[in-house]
Amino acid sequence: MTTFQDLGLAEPILRALAREGYEHPTPVQELAIPPLLKGSDVLGVAQTGTGKTAAFALPVLQTMMANRSSRRRVIRALVLSPTRELAAQIGERFAAYADELDVRHTVIFGGVNQNPQVRTLQRGLDILVATPGRLLDLVGQGYIDLSSVEFFVLDEADRMLDMGFIHDIRKVLKILPRARQNLLFSATMPTSIAELAGSFLRDAVRVEVTPETVTVERIAQTVMFVKKADKRRLLGQLIKTHNVGCGIVFTRTKHGANRLVKQLAQVGIEAAAIHGNKSQNARNRAMNGFRSGEIPILVATDIASRGIDVDGVTHVFNFDLPNEPESYVHRIGRTARAGKSGVAIAFCDESEGAYLRDIERLTGVTLTVDEEHAYHEPAAVPPPAQPRRARRSSPPKQSAPNERNARPRRRRRRRRGGGSGNAH
Ligand code: AMP
Repeated sequence: MTTFQDLGLAEPILRALAREGYEHPTPVQELAIPPLLKGSDVLGVAQTGTGKTAAFALPVLQTMMANRSSRRRVIRALVLSPTRELAAQIGERFAAYADELDVRHTVIFGGVNQNPQVRTLQRGLDILVATPGRLLDLVGQGYIDLSSVEFFVLDEADRMLDMGFIHDIRKVLKILPRARQNLLFSATMPTSIAELAGSFLRDAVRVEVTPETVTVERIAQTVMFVKKADKRRLLGQLIKTHNVGCGIVFTRTKHGANRLVKQLAQVGIEAAAIHGNKSQNARNRAMNGFRSGEIPILVATDIASRGIDVDGVTHVFNFDLPNEPESYVHRIGRTARAGKSGVAIAFCDESEGAYLRDIERLTGVTLTVDEEHAYHEPAAVPPPAQPRRARRSSPPKQSAPNERNARPRRRRRRRRGGGSGNAH
């Protein structure tokens, strides 16, 4: 299996990846990082959840490190993102990967006061992550100079076009210096995107990752409504009554995963937690114990789940519902592998109804409600989903359940740091 070392990444970046708990590059990283490090343009067909952010952020950072000039800081990399949420998320990833590097970045987007952003820009930075409107606004006001950009990333190009940003993108392309490296990522590749890509990519290496097909048909999916405080008791009961010998429980936080392992131990259930804060050794021990059947339950966070490739998983418990619906599909895909069937049980408390509806919208599946348990909580049942808004133009496409077939949809995220004017 390819490692991050094999891809030619520098030590400080490798250390950051280890801290993040990434063990192996995802397919899009494996394919995109080497050509980007060599200086080629890349056309990436990949959607959120494939690890595409690191696929461009790591080569960008390494380039910044390698050719550090002694001059004052100038914007050498520009990342365009369609929404403020995505921009903030990209900024957050840069912060994590650049922890040990002398590289500054910031995130700018509209809808908020520009002054803090302007002040950060004036202090100087190397990497700018921006939404198109605010970028052009601040360029127009003379606060942003793009004449030193060496690396241009257009992320989620299809969504950009959907949102009507094509003219803004063309304006940005006109301001950028001609000699630069380009990267375009899009979840889909309709003609409009192919044309846009053709207009500014040069001899681009095409990288395409097909989303992992999760065979949801073989997964019996149910949801149980339960009070937050009762979740651990319900889980303990289910593990015992279903006699689960190989199951994964997903929690939202690392802290929650650790706490749950202790709570399960109190009722005689052996479990191990795996998440980014665990040392490599601890994670290996947990994974080996789980694979060999010694440890029946693994409690994991989303980040850690990426590396879990165990064929015999019979049950996936969504102890906390994920706030990104794509993660739900990814999580339940840990079961029903290698032709087997699987059980996915989601717990939904009073605060998680909207996440449940988002998941149902994305997957097109209404989860079967299981009320036959001791902790059923009627107050946690959310109102019925709103009917889907009609798609804008193209006729409905047949697509895998984990593809973006439910757009436009509201994206809910936990509020995180990495907001405006957040230089690192
Ligand atoms: P993205 O597709 O860039 O939005 O990434 C999706 C999620 O995968 C993020 O939470 C990343 O932190 C995580 N991730 C990215 N690369 C890896 C990797 N190689 N191993 C484990 N997790 C990863």
